[in-house]
Amino acid sequence: MGRISRIAGPLVVASDMRSCSMYDVVHVGNAKLIGEIIQLKADNAYIQVYEDTSGIRPGEPVVSEGAPLSVALAPGLLTSIYDGVQRPLRIIMEKSGAFIKRGIEADAINREKRWRFVAEKDVKKGMHVTGGAVLGYVQETPLIKHYIMVPAGVSGVLTEIKQGEHRVTDTIATVKTKGGEVNVAMLQHRAVRIASPVKDKLAADVPLVTGQRVIDTFFPIAKGGVAAIPGPFGSGKTVTLHNIAKFADSEIIVYIGCGERGNEMTDVLTEFPELKDPRTGRPIMERTVMIANTSNMPVAAREASIYTGITIAEYFRDMGYNVALLADSTSRWAEAMREISARLEEMPGEEGYPAYLPKRIAEFYERAGRAISLNGKTGSVSVVGAVSPQGGDTSEPVSQATLRVVKVFWALSEPLARSSHYPAIDWLSSYSLYTKSLAHWYAANVGEGFTKSRDEAMMLLQKEGELKSIVQLVGEDALPDNEKLTLEVGRMIREYFLRQSAFDEFDMYTSMKKQHMMLDTILEFSKSAGSALAAGASIEGINGIKAKAKISRIKEVSEESIAKEAAEIRRGINDELNALAKEEGESK
Ligand code: ADP
Repeated sequence: MGRISRIAGPLVVASDMRSCSMYDVVHVGNAKLIGEIIQLKADNAYIQVYEDTSGIRPGEPVVSEGAPLSVALAPGLLTSIYDGVQRPLRIIMEKSGAFIKRGIEADAINREKRWRFVAEKDVKKGMHVTGGAVLGYVQETPLIKHYIMVPAGVSGVLTEIKQGEHRVTDTIATVKTKGGEVNVAMLQHRAVRIASPVKDKLAADVPLVTGQRVIDTFFPIAKGGVAAIPGPFGSGKTVTLHNIAKFADSEIIVYIGCGERGNEMTDVLTEFPELKDPRTGRPIMERTVMIANTSNMPVAAREASIYTGITIAEYFRDMGYNVALLADSTSRWAEAMREISARLEEMPGEEGYPAYLPKRIAEFYERAGRAISLNGKTGSVSVVGAVSPQGGDTSEPVSQATLRVVKVFWALSEPLARSSHYPAIDWLSSYSLYTKSLAHWYAANVGEGFTKSRDEAMMLLQKEGELKSIVQLVGEDALPDNEKLTLEVGRMIREYFLRQSAFDEFDMYTSMKKQHMMLDTILEFSKSAGSALAAGASIEGINGIKAKAKISRIKEVSEESIAKEAAEIRRGINDELNALAKEEGESK
């Protein structure tokens, strides 16, 4: 047992701690506040404390649990809202109100509730099992089966398997190992600061389809991929993350909210639980674990929340699920790191952030990936981190360290948001490094020509961007007709394709096949109009064709009729433009 020697806000120093290890969980002071050892020097332990430290005094005891910070994993996780060290917020708030009092104890997972455990068909007594093997499942919510796995490191002969109604702490299986009998319960623990092992890491060659056109077509994220979404306040970070939660083809969502202000987080706590799963109409929470930090919670809990979240995500990945981890915003997490580093009196790096900031950010994103877990199932953890740099300036350390590790960058633009172009993802400064590794998937699942169409549309948008700066200087009239056409096609891609309302029933989600057909219809206009222009048609005549009105409403066409409708529009474009070329070309 150690003794408190110094208290500096969330940081407590204790002496006589020689027998402890890094990242051990400790109970600090008479109030038994939860903390974690984050530095050991001689027999002094530096402890970050997850609760308010006011009122505790030097000399009070510090007792180590002798185990690292870990999360509790069992049925009951889904629909839960936790703080950064997995305390159940709803239960704590019921007990103590919005301001969480200290020392309130509440289990992360309800210990009384009984769940119906069903053994897998091929799981039989006498078989050999190893860590990660699936023993059975609990239908945790109508949307998700929660698979119960043999804990890592346990290996031997299954001597007992108990189907039926159980509490999470009851023994549901017994394994005879070399070291003796091990009872397996549904409730298991995993340390949060190290990545859980997998059998094999897989290439990032399957997209996480989000139904958001600017993302899926132009700046896709792979399943198991990493993306950052920086942007100033009000530019659409939250709406984008909510859309991914709702529409992406990931079964499980882990949402980590680090609020700027107390009430903003309260918005998240009320808004997110109201989201409905578009495929089933059921609450998204039935496939979500939420971790929330308000600004009035201790900073140390915010620092831990990222690790708590990703460890839960890895657990569901191991069951064979695709998990999307959404962190809003990682800047608040980095600020917590900065505050604790200052308390440790470490040498500050850029803008006061610790020198290890880039390393921590990289380590976090590296835990994403698509993998074969120890039981042979394929799952993934995709990570999308919002970054909220002050004033939207991405030259600051958190944005820079993030950009070095992520492979997708969705640059939210204030001017776009101001002109109500949503999603306000700037197509000229965003990027995705997955387009190449996903090309094969697109060819097999969307259409042979998809990648070519995307590249062509991107080139037109870039050209449009260049032309717009020329137009600002000399005016549009000075441009030759083919460049006027490029401007028009650029506008069509922006207005009819990139713009997508999150609030319109028809528009909020677009399948990849429909995205492809929408884009090809616009490109068909571009190509035919180019030919008509060459054959002598006027740009005014081309821009006036009736089929354009139909292109402008193509997003309203349902998924079922898009193939037929797109073909008809394309025929209309060609008929009109051919006739126009004939008429105007001959009269010249
Ligand atoms: P941030 O999280 O960056 O502060 P929000 O995500 O809350 O910003 O977005 C601010 C506002 O912008 C929203 O309330 C909404 O009105 C509008 N908005 C953002 N994205 C979209 C979208 N895809 N479709 C329609 N409106 C949007």
